[in-house]
Amino acid sequence: MNRIDLKQLIEAVADTIAAHADDLTALDQAIGDGDHGLNMKRGFEAVRADADGLAAKPLPEALKAIGTKLVMTVGGASGPLFGTLFMSLGKDLPAEPGRADLIGAFGKAIDAVAARGKSQAGQKTMLDVLYAVQAALVAGKGPADIAAAADAAAQSTAPMKAIRGRASFLGERSVGHVDPGARSSALIVRAVAESLEGGA
Ligand code: ADP
Ligand code: MG
Repeated sequence: MNRIDLKQLIEAVADTIAAHADDLTALDQAIGDGDHGLNMKRGFEAVRADADGLAAKPLPEALKAIGTKLVMTVGGASGPLFGTLFMSLGKDLPAEPGRADLIGAFGKAIDAVAARGKSQAGQKTMLDVLYAVQAALVAGKGPADIAAAADAAAQSTAPMKAIRGRASFLGERSVGHVDPGARSSALIVRAVAESLEGGA
């Protein structure tokens, strides 16, 4: 893996979330309460505001701090779940991770999210994207293919019926819409993948 420029990575993620905040809100208006775009934007702008301080920390400490900040600022159901993802990555990743480290830590982080959300794959949530990313990592895929797998997994939530989260209240009426948390997860994955690829 390339050396990680954490500040550039934070900027890239915050930029894509800001650029897509309206799309995320529209997705959440269809099957939720319409706050996902604002929730995510608030969270990642808070992370961006501390980018210099975060980038000065070793990667594990920075990831834990990002997770804590997301829990405090995103709100909704997704805040604690994204917070758990980043905090768990911070707990398990070494300062200079290779692919095997990433596969191990990401697997544990997804398990932590699933435990926190009492959820699993196929329930039309962010987990559908996270598991697809893990599968692409295990299959040895490069950043572009990992980003494409994340996008495809987000898209694949459209025909699913929501079993967890607010969208599950809609039952069958949740079918036909992409899950907002799956979409935001794919945006984050693409920004990270493209940053790592570009930083070669
Ligand atoms: P809220 O639903 O509280 O308004 P958000 O709109 O910010 O929170 O986030 C909604 C997203 O959170 C969903 O699209 C879904 O991906 C994710 N989500 C909600 N509940 C769960 C859960 N139990 N497990 C996994 N992901 C979940
Ligand atoms: Mg919502």
